[in-house]
Amino acid sequence: MKNWAGNLEYSSARVERPESVAELARIVQQAGRVKALGSRHSFNRVGDTDGVHVLLDALPQQIELNPERGTVKVSGGVSYGALCRALEQSGMAIHNLASLPHISVAGAVQTGTHGSGVNNPSLAGAVQSIDLVRPSGESVTLTLADGDEFLASVVGLGALGIVTGLELAVQPSYRMRQRVLENLPWDRALDGFAGIVSSAYSVSLFTDYAGETISQVWLKALDPEPALADLFGATAAARPRHPLPDMSAENCTIQLDEPGQWLDRLPHFRHEFTPSNGNELQSEFILPLDHAPAALLAVRAVADKLSPLLFVSEIRTGAADEFWLSPFYRQQSVALHFTWKPLQPEVEAFLPELEEALRPFGARPHWGKLFSAAGHDWESLYPRFAAFRSLASGHDPEGKFRNGLLDTVLGVPAASGR
Ligand SMILES: Cc1cc2nc3c(=O)[nH]c(=O)nc-3n(C[C@H](O)[C@H](O)[C@H](O)COP(=O)(O)OP(=O)(O)OC[C@H]3O[C@@H](n4cnc5c(N)ncnc54)[C@H](O)[C@@H]3O)c2cc1C
Repeated sequence: MKNWAGNLEYSSARVERPESVAELARIVQQAGRVKALGSRHSFNRVGDTDGVHVLLDALPQQIELNPERGTVKVSGGVSYGALCRALEQSGMAIHNLASLPHISVAGAVQTGTHGSGVNNPSLAGAVQSIDLVRPSGESVTLTLADGDEFLASVVGLGALGIVTGLELAVQPSYRMRQRVLENLPWDRALDGFAGIVSSAYSVSLFTDYAGETISQVWLKALDPEPALADLFGATAAARPRHPLPDMSAENCTIQLDEPGQWLDRLPHFRHEFTPSNGNELQSEFILPLDHAPAALLAVRAVADKLSPLLFVSEIRTGAADEFWLSPFYRQQSVALHFTWKPLQPEVEAFLPELEEALRPFGARPHWGKLFSAAGHDWESLYPRFAAFRSLASGHDPEGKFRNGLLDTVLGVPAASGR
């Protein structure tokens, strides 16, 4: 079994598709090592195991609104695409989405997946409660009232339990308008960065860091407010655009300021367009918003080595949250995302240099994308890192939910004997 990008073959000896939580609990209890997989959209081995992989798509696929609580309850295998359609049919919505809707809710939340918007928390920000199966097979439900356990578990890298259900905050359905602006001069972007990224509900900048302009700025505004038609020297594209300037925009969501429902504007790509696998790799580094201009200059300084490896880079933002291993933990942030050409050896050889350039800004790597696992001082990046590690070792002393990547990041649990 491979991941979506096809850049890695998982190491599991067995794959199970339990049809009930009780069956899942039995599998977990009996397994030496076990890990859940969602839609396999991660680019690294965060979800790998040499034991049993469990896929949750055969569990009952619950999507249940609770109007009194203003929430929706989803089971572990549900994708954002399925959730969005069900919510919209009931006149409801969630606050934000990633660039594509095909990812699973549980897998996305566990890695701190996010969209864009200075005041929009990551997708984990909607989580009100989480149902987990622990290594012993025990099922628990955690809410904000559980304090540290909850704040550690929501963005948990699958290390604290297998997520069988999530309760997410919902809001009434809303309409949006999307516009792409072109050719934002770099000097204006750096001077006016805070204003540019605050100029709509969700803003993304697309660049290769070379040249004098940022090629595209995607503005997603809340209707009836129009998406701006010019901004700091960038002007409205006259036709729909794809983030890669030479690609057709037919698979992109509707632009040109035409109003539409939230689920048809927040992702960059249409739901009907299902990329089965991708000829690309990704990395992303998240750092305090205040450092954005200096960090962007630092990346521009390595553009000659970076650009040949890149399809494109997307610059997004996100609000602070309270989840211990969230890249947005207590920091309103900018996220520098890199869509690489499928040149993994060259990308991995270059990553330490990029990480070094971003180190002064306290950049936190996206957990589901490519980064140098041994190349970060996790405790200085994450104030609650040591507490997470001891919680994970306490719940999982034998390292059932661990793998090589998690052992490198978290350290090998004392009782695992590995
Ligand atoms: C084309 C593409 C576009 C992307 N766009 C964005 C984007 O816009 N923003 C962004 O932030 N990221 C983005 N990503 C990254 C992606 O959102 C993350 O890698 C996310 O984790 C994928 O979810 P998944 O269901 O595929 O998880 P998987 O890759 O299947 O698993 C990820 C992790 O979650 C764990 N996990 C999965 N399900 C469970 C469960 N039920 N219980 C416990 N642990 C579980 C796995 O063990 C693993 O550790 C993109 C990836 C791709 C391929």
